[in-house]
Amino acid sequence: MYAGMGDTAWVEFTFVSGHLALDLAATLTWRSTYPIELLAGPQDLSAWIEQAGLGDVAGRVGAADVERMRELREAIYRTASADPLERPPRAGDLRLISRTAAGKQVTPVLEELGRAVWHGTVEQVLATVAHQACVLLGGPDHRRIRSCADSQCTRLFVDHSRSGSRRWCDKQTCGGRANAAAYRRRRSQHSPG
Ligand SMILES: [Zn+2]
Repeated sequence: MYAGMGDTAWVEFTFVSGHLALDLAATLTWRSTYPIELLAGPQDLSAWIEQAGLGDVAGRVGAADVERMRELREAIYRTASADPLERPPRAGDLRLISRTAAGKQVTPVLEELGRAVWHGTVEQVLATVAHQACVLLGGPDHRRIRSCADSQCTRLFVDHSRSGSRRWCDKQTCGGRANAAAYRRRRSQHSPG
């Protein structure tokens, strides 16, 4: 169904949403046009977990874990992008997130001031992400969840700006593209001839 990135190349994941659960949701990109599955296999999932700072689970991830993480991801995405009036959250998604959150979470070792290292199994990572999803989706910050203004991006983020007017998931990529396009438009309007 989705174009896969394969399970051999190291994928550089993106963490720009301001929340772990929405960073997970971003591992299926370009959802409305050409979806790309970044969690294509166990190696991708262990890379995401490591890059998310949740520990080193390399060699301990199976295909079933990938399947479960994708299920959790889609439940989070649907719930985070739900609309109470037009597209209410699905009861099954809320149950899945809650059930997953009930598990034991990853545990930290405080190594020094400013540095903690997290340890656990994939099961514990799932519980940790689901737990954080409950905090976000069940608390006041759910009102700050936005979808990137780029028409194709489909990434969600938490708008922590004081004005509540953040438009882009990432100023460098989506915001940068929009600024460059606006600049080109202005230039072409002002160019002589
Ligand atoms: Zn974006």
